[in-house]
Amino acid sequence: MHAIFMTSATRLKACPDTEGRPELAIAGRSNVGKSSLINTIVDRRQLARVSNTPGRTQLLNFFLVDGQFVICDLPGYGYAKVPRAIKAAWAPMIEGYLDGRTPLRAVLMLVDARRAPGAWEIALVHYCTTRGLALIPVVTKIDKVTKSQRFPTLSLIGKALGLPVELLVPFSALTREGIEPLQLRMRRILGLIE
Ligand code: GDP
Repeated sequence: MHAIFMTSATRLKACPDTEGRPELAIAGRSNVGKSSLINTIVDRRQLARVSNTPGRTQLLNFFLVDGQFVICDLPGYGYAKVPRAIKAAWAPMIEGYLDGRTPLRAVLMLVDARRAPGAWEIALVHYCTTRGLALIPVVTKIDKVTKSQRFPTLSLIGKALGLPVELLVPFSALTREGIEPLQLRMRRILGLIE
């Protein structure tokens, strides 16, 4: 997949026109591996660095992918270095976006294989269900889990999120496991392939 940076926005009104293309939002706690995942799936190293340049980490960053759909990289939740006032503004900005963004079809949510999902992740799953948004739950850094711990880990995460374990996409930016299933799931959910 080839991605081109479109623009950044702080408010719903400043989000770009997708010209009829569907949009996928990518959400996760800071340090979950979001930049690594974006860099891996769009096959253009350091693209997500755009999202990580100072001043842009707290914005909604938009990328056009293969000319077919738009990715909105949401600011990482719980970023330690962010001042309290900006943290307080995080939820309204994300909520405003999720509530009002017309082209939005699906949310790709990242959870770390080595951490139990928290209230924030559970709330996002619930939100997607109530708003009728498709959800792609991705379990990052799966390379850090041993083979014998793999199924128990995924089961636990699925249980915590209230999702069937088959729905989880195990992913590793390191070994590149999960890239193809993830790209396929994205295209399918966005209605780009059967
Ligand atoms: P972000 O804050 O969510 O954008 O996270 P980053 O992509 O910057 O990754 C945070 C840390 O996790 C970095 O030290 C990465 O090298 C590491 N990391 C990201 N993805 C993986 C992965 O799939 N496997 C392993 N072992 N480490 C990863």
